[in-house]
This record gives sequence, structure tokens and C-alpha cells, in this order.
Amino acid sequence: MNRFFVKKEDILDGAARICGEDAHHITGVLRLAPGDEVVLCDGCGTDYPAVIENADKTAVTLRVGDPSPSLTEPRAKATLYQALPKAGKLETIIQKCVELGVNRIVPFAAARSVVRLTAAEFEKKRARYQRVAYEAAKQSRRGIVPEIAPLAAFCEISPESHGAFLFPYEEESATSLKTALRGIVPDAVTDVAFIIGPEGGFEPSEAETLVSLGAVSVSLGPRILRTETAGPAALAMILYELEQKA
Ligand code: SAH
Repeated sequence: MNRFFVKKEDILDGAARICGEDAHHITGVLRLAPGDEVVLCDGCGTDYPAVIENADKTAVTLRVGDPSPSLTEPRAKATLYQALPKAGKLETIIQKCVELGVNRIVPFAAARSVVRLTAAEFEKKRARYQRVAYEAAKQSRRGIVPEIAPLAAFCEISPESHGAFLFPYEEESATSLKTALRGIVPDAVTDVAFIIGPEGGFEPSEAETLVSLGAVSVSLGPRILRTETAGPAALAMILYELEQKA
């Protein structure tokens, strides 16, 4: 079944209207017509069955049925704090993590980030990153479009604001991610965050700060992963373990 994101406010009194690119996609590409069924998602975790009533290239109107929760959202809401990587890699990280079920991605400037952007410079690129998240969410039939947050400074990251905060650290060997998730992270936790360093890894002072603020330093295994591999890999492991616990 074809799925489309609509704004919550565009569904009113059992009717919805789709304009712009999606209308063109529905009529010109998918060649859907009045009577055809689609699913609308409000991007906030709710789906609606809908039937096309009227369709032309610029606007499609639909009759909308009863809402139900999107079935594709993981129980755990995972936030990825991603150190700013070299150009181009952030798009890959966003795409893969949205497919895998991330809830929110917060890029941050790490001491060893090669790319140096001010928050204002990053802001100019954010719409494009948000678009990557939107496309990936559509493709993966997500119930939300994960937010790509503004660029954060390292000092703005607060592990204590999350139910659990995992810190995959290339220098850690004693505690595996699995051990942390099976023991340290409570069964009921649904707000879990994790932080991934840049190509050059974390500065020891950053590691100390994170641990002193309550982050749990973990190993992702004996092999060192590239920054663009570490985020998606850690996310897949975290969600897998937490879904097993549910
Ligand atoms: N250049 C560094 C590695 C950086 S990898 C070195 O050679 O040591 C980028 C980030 O991915 C790390 O900061 C960490 O957050 C994560 N990472 C990669 N492999 C990891 C592993 N085996 N265990 C824990 N974290 C890992």
C-alpha cells in the first residue's frame, strides 16, 4: 500500500488534501485514481487509511478513515549524537539510521571533527539533511520523520536528560554494548541515547566528561568501525536488544 506523510492539520473532518510533489507522484508516477486506497501518516506515529476522491497533477483530495498507531515505530526512542564527520558522510549516517529506526539525530562539533562549521553554517545545510531523513522515512514506512537537530556544542550534550546514555568508545574494552544493555540499562527504558565520535575518535577529556556526566562507556567489539559505520551498527544492536527485552 502506498504511504504518504501529511501534516496533522491537513487531515480535517475525515478529509485530507495532498498538494505539490506528492500529488504529482500520486497521479503522474503511480497513476492512482479516484477509488484507489492509500495510507496517510501524520509523521507523529499515527496512520490513517484513505481513499482518493479527486486527483489531478496539482492536488489530490481523499476521504480519511479511523486513525491507528503506526506499526513500524520501535518501542525505544533512540537519539544519536553524531560528531560532525567529513563532508557527505552525515547524509549516509542519516539515511541508514532513519531506516533502522532512530528517533532523532543531534550532530555535534567534536574536538577532533575535521570539518569545522559554525551553528549558522550548519543551519544552511539542515533543510537538506532533514530532506534525507524524510525520504528515508518514507522508504522505510516509518511513522515519524526523525528530526535532524541543529548543530550542538559538545558542552550542550546532557546524558542525564535521557533514560540511558551509551558511549561507544574505541578505548573501552571491559564493557560490551550487550552487557550494558542487558544489565545497566533498565528493562523499562524507552529513551536511550548514544554518542559516536568523529574519524579521529574522542579526546580523552571528552571521554572523561561524558563518563562523569553519567554516560556508560561501551565497546562495540574488537574491530574499530568507521564513524559512518559505528552509528548505524550501534543503533541496530541497541534496538535489537531493547526489542528483545520488551
Ligand atoms: N580513529 C579512531 C577510531 C574512531 S572510530 C581509532 O583509530 O581509534 C569513530 C567512532 O566510532 C568512535 O569515536 C566511537 O564512538 C565509535 N567506534 C568505532 N569502533 C568502535 C568500537 N569497536 N567500540 C566502541 N566504539 C567504536
